[in-house]
Amino acid sequence: MEKLQQKILTEGIALSNTVLKVDRFLNHQIDPHLMKEIGEEFANRFKNEKLTKIVTLESSGIAPAVMTGLILDVPVIFARKKKSLTLTEGLITSKVYSYTKQETNDISISSKFLNKDDRVLIIDDFLANGQAALALIDIIAKAEAEAVGLGIVIEKAFQDGGELLRKKGYRVESLARIKSLENNTIQFINEEEK
Ligand code: 5GP
Repeated sequence: MEKLQQKILTEGIALSNTVLKVDRFLNHQIDPHLMKEIGEEFANRFKNEKLTKIVTLESSGIAPAVMTGLILDVPVIFARKKKSLTLTEGLITSKVYSYTKQETNDISISSKFLNKDDRVLIIDDFLANGQAALALIDIIAKAEAEAVGLGIVIEKAFQDGGELLRKKGYRVESLARIKSLENNTIQFINEEEK
């Protein structure tokens, strides 16, 4: 997605060879116009999949997920990272290792929002080693629903999550695929290289 790539180039910061900071439009401040276009792009790519739900992970997946859900007219569920006082029963839980925080946490979704008839699109801000995606897939499987595919805003293609998920047979659609962050330079994988 050309506009997203330009935004990453102008406003993203390669913090190291592996971590990209995009808090000017995705991870802290949010650009609603860009989110709308991201939602339209995901909706277009998955429009024939007969989706019934979108699942994401709080907090940075919520903005692109809601925009996609609005266009596809399906509910959006975000997995919670912390236990809630009002949400205590019937939780489906999985463990996820956080790449940025370097710690393992439980994430959970209430079983009442997913059932065996659901066809689910997973949306997240980043794909690195695939741990967040695998935990969401695990929760969807425990609910006996079907994970139909994954919509990723930024895939760091030099890490192994994308390959891992595609090898398992999942459809992964990433709007920007980063080849390298080395030497503080952001390089993308071109469409032809895909
Ligand atoms: P994974 O589980 O695929 O290893 O990592 C994905 C999760 O880690 C995403 O939900 C995202 O929040 C976070 N993440 C991974 N790499 C980056 C990065 O380079 N920049 C930012 N801002 N978040 C990242």
